Amino acid sequence: MKVSIIGAGVAGLSAGCYLQMNGFETEIFEKHSKPGGVCTSWKCGEYTFDGCIQWLLGSNASNPFYQLWSELIDMDSIEFRNHDVRMDIEVRDTVDRHGSKVFHLYTNLEKLSAYLIDLSPADSRIIRKLIRSMRKIQRYEYPPMIKSVPELLPFTKKIMFIRYLPDLLFLLKWRKKTNYEFAQNIRDPFLKEAFRLLFDGDEMPLLIIIMPLAFNDKSGVGYPIGGSLRFAKKIEEKYLQLGGRIRYNSGVDEILTENGKASGIRLSDGSIVHSDVTVSAADWHDTVFRVLKGKYVSKKILELGQQQKLEVFYSVFLLSLGVSRSFRDQPHMVRFPLTNEIISPDGTPYSRMEVHFNNYDPTIAPAGKSVVSVKFYTKNGEYWINQRKSDPEEYLRQKTKFAEEIISVLEEKFGNIREAIEEIDIATPATYHRYTNNWKGSSQGWLPGKNLVAISPVETELPGLQNFYLAGHWTQPGGGLPVAIKSARTVAQLICHKFKMPFTVY
Ligand SMILES: Cc1cc2nc3c(=O)[nH]c(=O)nc-3n(C[C@H](O)[C@H](O)[C@H](O)COP(=O)(O)OP(=O)(O)OC[C@H]3O[C@@H](n4cnc5c(N)ncnc54)[C@H](O)[C@@H]3O)c2cc1C
Repeated sequence: MKVSIIGAGVAGLSAGCYLQMNGFETEIFEKHSKPGGVCTSWKCGEYTFDGCIQWLLGSNASNPFYQLWSELIDMDSIEFRNHDVRMDIEVRDTVDRHGSKVFHLYTNLEKLSAYLIDLSPADSRIIRKLIRSMRKIQRYEYPPMIKSVPELLPFTKKIMFIRYLPDLLFLLKWRKKTNYEFAQNIRDPFLKEAFRLLFDGDEMPLLIIIMPLAFNDKSGVGYPIGGSLRFAKKIEEKYLQLGGRIRYNSGVDEILTENGKASGIRLSDGSIVHSDVTVSAADWHDTVFRVLKGKYVSKKILELGQQQKLEVFYSVFLLSLGVSRSFRDQPHMVRFPLTNEIISPDGTPYSRMEVHFNNYDPTIAPAGKSVVSVKFYTKNGEYWINQRKSDPEEYLRQKTKFAEEIISVLEEKFGNIREAIEEIDIATPATYHRYTNNWKGSSQGWLPGKNLVAISPVETELPGLQNFYLAGHWTQPGGGLPVAIKSARTVAQLICHKFKMPFTVY
């Protein structure tokens, strides 16, 4: 039985692996010339610039996603770097009781607890409660939930999940608590401000940070040395070993249908490939509304397409600099207030900046040198996409001018950077869109709403179309690499079930 898979991002490659393991003949069609999709990095002179992974959930056995990654990758072959501090946050208007403006979000929970209580003994009750919650999250038993597909479970198995109900209720209790609401109950002004700034001034569910922090403490959310493309290539290697085939530079323009069933694909060069099943691990919006011409939609899907149910995740303006300085003395990630607000060409005002000093991966820069990158998150990725399309010269001028402005801030803040710059690369939402098709240049699919733990409204099958499945980061709000692999596994399980085959992994 033949399966066509659209997209060689982490989801498409993973779906390919799981289906090959189960006896399907698969072929992946990828518009770009490389695997990885958003999970990528690129060479610039002596430097490697990375467009993705900072944190891989499941980098060791303390996190359940490790079991999934290990099904596809020899995780022992990757060296992971676990940071002592998740990030440094510099506040503007206040200092801690030792006179420092910098808040350290330690990844070791014991250290974090001691640090927070030292900063504000008056808040020790609420701090202890927060740390206890993270400890509780660490103790959860996730594997059965991560490996199973609820709709495929018989009632007798479903009922066994009742034992996880207390854990779920606990998460449901936390799901609506935002960093702002949490900060309201903190007495110490410095700590209050630091919690308000956890998402650079945005109000988001606190779970988004406390869940990964719980696993950071156990070294389960590491950075893979070598970066994103090297990581994605490991899955590509496994897929090819399993007998899968990939056609690069092969964009899919249409999914063919016959009697309400997906029957193959038409590539951008006009050629047609017939198959029994099609999986799209490409962009959700492009697949549903362009490639399938919006023919297989429900009211819910149309609402999603209008962003009425969920908002698209931020896109990124990413400035990467290859610098002939080691920056050994700097934290790996710091967010700080700007003296003067800067306004992106897309109209977004920024009063803070996020800087990464990659001074910890020896493979990405020569000895004594490092990669410094700045990320600005935007909800107006469309501006860059349209600008590049309508006036490429003006697009280039604007992104270069904005990058120049950012470099001036870095120079003022850290000193002696401009002179040391050897390579510059500027990726905008238009770059992410151009290479991956992601709607509005989204970096992770949908933004999670407050309803973080609720069942996702994004379905893997479309109404009126059989033998067609969606995988990838758009299938679960929040997206990211764990969603990419999990959704791919789920789709492979659904396909096996449909064709009455047992699902196996080897
Ligand atoms: C700056 C940044 C930092 C991030 N950091 C992290 C992190 O630290 N941890 C984490 O877990 N996640 C992170 N993410 C998110 C993560 O990279 C993505 O959620 C994940 O890689 C998505 O994988 P995917 O396979 O679902 O989709 P994609 O990577 O988008 O793959 C889709 C593939 O389909 C191809 N395609 C699209 N349309 C077509 C077509 N018509 N025909 C053929 N091919 C097509 C694309 O070229 C692409 O290769 C980050 C993202 C960004 C941008």
